[in-house]
Amino acid sequence: MTTNFKQPRLRSPKYLRSLRELPCLVCGLTPGGVAHHLLRAEDRGVGLKTSDKYAVPLCNDCHTQLHMTGDERRYFDTRGVDAYVWVQQNWRKFHGDD
Ligand SMILES: [Zn+2]
Ligand SMILES: [Zn+2]
Repeated sequence: MTTNFKQPRLRSPKYLRSLRELPCLVCGLTPGGVAHHLLRAEDRGVGLKTSDKYAVPLCNDCHTQLHMTGDERRYFDTRGVDAYVWVQQNWRKFHGDD
């Protein structure tokens, strides 16, 4: 018997709640109030595209704009925000370790 360590989806309601208290990643409004799940995280080969680990704090306006833009990576790039690095760092900060 082997234990299955695979967790295709990481769920952490507590983490999401803490995210909504953080400033918006794009404009700095505090609290942002919205947790947006990065859609392109899977590009990095992690296969956790809907995991709560890949959620970032945004405000309502920025979140709406992001979804209107349709291209998530370009949206963050043009604003000088590396959301994909940010999620890794913040997740580690919150949970102590990965
Ligand atoms: Zn904002
Ligand atoms: Zn969203």
